[in-house]
Amino acid sequence: MTRDWIRHIDRLIQQRPVSRSALEAFRGIALLMEEARPEAMPVHVEQEVRDVQQKEGFPLFSREDLPLDLKTAGDLLKKFLAHLSRSDRDDARGLEKALKKAESAGDWTEGLFVSILKQDDQTVAEMGRDVNLDPGVLTFLGKTALRPSMERLREDAAPYLDKTGWDKGYCPLCGSQPDMACLKKTGKRYLHCELCGEKWPYPRIQCPFCNTVEQEKLGYFEAEEEEGLRVYFCRECHRYIKTVDMRAFEETAPLEVEGLATLHLDVLAQENGFR
Ligand SMILES: [Zn+2]
Ligand SMILES: [Zn+2]
Repeated sequence: MTRDWIRHIDRLIQQRPVSRSALEAFRGIALLMEEARPEAMPVHVEQEVRDVQQKEGFPLFSREDLPLDLKTAGDLLKKFLAHLSRSDRDDARGLEKALKKAESAGDWTEGLFVSILKQDDQTVAEMGRDVNLDPGVLTFLGKTALRPSMERLREDAAPYLDKTGWDKGYCPLCGSQPDMACLKKTGKRYLHCELCGEKWPYPRIQCPFCNTVEQEKLGYFEAEEEEGLRVYFCRECHRYIKTVDMRAFEETAPLEVEGLATLHLDVLAQENGFR
């Protein structure tokens, strides 16, 4: 997975210098992800259960019940913290403190993962305060440390996941919200899960967060001189989603990498009152 990410990171560092620092920081992390070897976890779901889930619009797993290898994720998180605390980042001290916590308190990393999965922002904020680290950084590193195990789960759960007819604004595998979208060469829109990286088709003129289909509430803007990189927004719920129009590019990176290469669009969207 990440071998391909690194090739795209290197390409985008050249092509979009504005994103250089975010991409360079992520490059080191992606190299560490490449080495992780998560264990297979039991993923069996009875067909009758799955039929009911699908009929009711439930994802295959809820976030709290995802069968993930938290041990491997914890070891990977420690490697991230060790790697980043050696850099000249402003928060290097906080990262070092977090590493000490992770090494001395055996359940610290697991506590972080469980809080992230439960979307218990308050606990994550407290854990961040405790080590002088921005909770956003802690969440990003925690989610990224979970990703190799998520990838493993996505492979193992693929036989149970039928995305045909799935028309929800949340992930069919884990129920999370999308963090990015893309328009494929056919013009069809796909949403990308913020937690597990799954993609699923979704109508182009509909807000995935509040489901409105009222055209006058929906719109998008592009950054200057960046045709194909857009922010789709909704004036009903004031949410936005960054979208890569793949028709505008010869090649595009995985959406995790595109997300980091377009942080300036988040700034623009938030300046315009969207969240
Ligand atoms: Zn998901
Ligand atoms: Zn909306």
